[in-house]
Amino acid sequence: MGARIQRILGIEKANSLAILAALQTLFGPELFAAVPATAVKRELNSWVQKEHRKKWSCTPALRQSKLFIRWPDKKTITELIGLSRNSVRRIVALRTGHNLLRRHAKLMGIVKGNDICRKCGEEQETTEHILCECPALASLRHTFFGTGFPTTEEIMSSNNKALLFFINKTGLLD
Ligand SMILES: [Zn+2]
Repeated sequence: MGARIQRILGIEKANSLAILAALQTLFGPELFAAVPATAVKRELNSWVQKEHRKKWSCTPALRQSKLFIRWPDKKTITELIGLSRNSVRRIVALRTGHNLLRRHAKLMGIVKGNDICRKCGEEQETTEHILCECPALASLRHTFFGTGFPTTEEIMSSNNKALLFFINKTGLLD
């Protein structure tokens, strides 16, 4: 029997079973309501996402991460899955502040000496300084983010690939 005929017979059988089920009389102590499985799945996903965002917002720590990550979302996850492990590592390092820029590297005891920005020599080399403020990187930021001095909110909404290309071009995480 051809695959097409089997599929048609399968659909016909499913249809006749669905009609049969719809004609059944419901019984039992509980109340019954016909809710499609897709609606249940959609409601569950929505609830999980809402609870996740609530937990993210209410967690008192994660100051640095909250500067550059609005909340976990499916679009970002899909975007990151398509990138190499090294690229994902760099993006996560930038968005969470757990990277080898001088300020954090010094806090971790990885770098000795000062934590002044290697590009401008004026301010501490923090993630925020590099992504938003460093005057020596204004032109490069303009190329990738459309503005020389983006706000943390703009970086938060920025495309991950733009963020990756920008930091690669600075050479600061090499
Ligand atoms: Zn600087």
